[in-house]
Amino acid sequence: MKRFLCKVFTTITPLALLSSSLMANEKSEKAPVVIVGGGVGALTSAIYLQRAGVETIVLEGKEPGGAIAQSPSVHNWPGDVEISGRDLAKKIKSQAAFNGAKFLPYEATSLDFSKRPFKIQAQDPYDASKTVLLEASACLIAVGSKPNLLGVTGEATYWTKGVYSCAVCDGGLYKGQTVAVIGGGDSAIIEAEYLSNLAQKVYLILRSDKFRTVEGKRKEHLIKKGNVEVLYNTKVEEILGNGKVATHLKLSTGKTLPVNGIFLAIGAKPNTALLKNGVALDEQGYIRLIKGQQTSVPGVFAIGDATDPIYKQAITAAGDGAKAALDLEKYLSATEPVYKATPTLETVQIEEVRLADIPSIRDSQEFYRAISGGQDTPVLIDFYTPFCGPCQQLLSRLQLLAAQPGGKVRIVKVDVAEFQEIAGTYSISSVPTVLLFDKHGKEVKRGEGLQEIGEILTFLQSN
Ligand code: NDP
Repeated sequence: MKRFLCKVFTTITPLALLSSSLMANEKSEKAPVVIVGGGVGALTSAIYLQRAGVETIVLEGKEPGGAIAQSPSVHNWPGDVEISGRDLAKKIKSQAAFNGAKFLPYEATSLDFSKRPFKIQAQDPYDASKTVLLEASACLIAVGSKPNLLGVTGEATYWTKGVYSCAVCDGGLYKGQTVAVIGGGDSAIIEAEYLSNLAQKVYLILRSDKFRTVEGKRKEHLIKKGNVEVLYNTKVEEILGNGKVATHLKLSTGKTLPVNGIFLAIGAKPNTALLKNGVALDEQGYIRLIKGQQTSVPGVFAIGDATDPIYKQAITAAGDGAKAALDLEKYLSATEPVYKATPTLETVQIEEVRLADIPSIRDSQEFYRAISGGQDTPVLIDFYTPFCGPCQQLLSRLQLLAAQPGGKVRIVKVDVAEFQEIAGTYSISSVPTVLLFDKHGKEVKRGEGLQEIGEILTFLQSN
């Protein structure tokens, strides 16, 4: 069954993926405002700007919805007693799209704020050869933060092979197993809570003797759970493994703790490396705000975690987003906008693209039948978890691929939390991972991470 791409979720993805005209540096777009980042703050700004009549492009990166989209359940967003972060971000994004905002699932690779129009170079995270140059009269930086790492031996070796920073993405691989969450802040509580509903045992490892949480009730509820054990005053000294996956944590208490999955939730740092020579940063790398949401460069505004060492809540980022939109509008009315026209993205073409449904396997026989060969086309297996942001983004690309005329590949989804045995048999250690089987049922390609998956998608499109 095929369905039309809903207008509300019109993005540039289809063009970016399908149009051969969007090759390296061939495409440029102009807009009054470009927002770099796709979290709730960015989306809120897009709503305000569009409603004020300011055409906006949102450069949403590889994790649309930002950090909140990784939260399985949010309890403190006003108006929703409980909502998944993914659904929350989706609601706000659809409101922004309804009001006319355009979305580009590319990542900024360079920012030039030396003169107007500002220049933002971006690339497809699945294919570095696909780039776009955006020119904007004004810019909003909403780049958020990136997770801190422990810096201990074994962490880099076993990254995505038992060591992760997103339980909602990769936790599904550890159903019925033993996991550890490192950290004692709100992120750690949320990660541990999610894992406690899946794993057989969850160790919550704090380096000090106390938690550092806003969600006190949630913490109390969590630590009373029978399968959760808190280890206070305990540092991780090393991550040990068998060469393929992490297997143990060496702790400061002298203990070597056997674990299957390790989830880091030890805070985050502002994601501002690209901005070093662009706008003024403080000594910790947070963007300095001069007045309201205005940065050191007139016409460049900033919001959310990249500006905020203290509050870092989704709702405060959204509040910043509203303030920045008002500041931006004022700025644009006071200066001659370089671009008054609406963006020229070819939305008509986009709307005509059809999406195919990607079937999920219902039982393991179905999986083995799918890869058994003897078919007219190769089969691509998409190993995913339902709340993983990059998995969602990949899904829309796979839907487009499946909808290509000629039916060059059959695509099937496997939820790793539901089909642990299959994930184990095929050594799936992170999601999304894709496996390509040829017509004879032989595994011919494996893609882990966006770059490798992107190469397989390009291969399938060109063959
Ligand atoms: P926090 O900075 O709040 O907490 C980090 C935790 O990790 C602390 O327990 C800290 O320990 C520990 N830690 C830091 N470095 C290390 C290390 N090297 N080894 C071991 N432990 C370490 O980060 P969060 O990501 O949890 O939260 C960031 C912000 O986002 C907060 O303001 C939080 O309130 C907010 N947030 C809110 C949510 C909500 O639903 N309201 C959800 C998630 C985040 P120590 O205390 O000893 O320094």
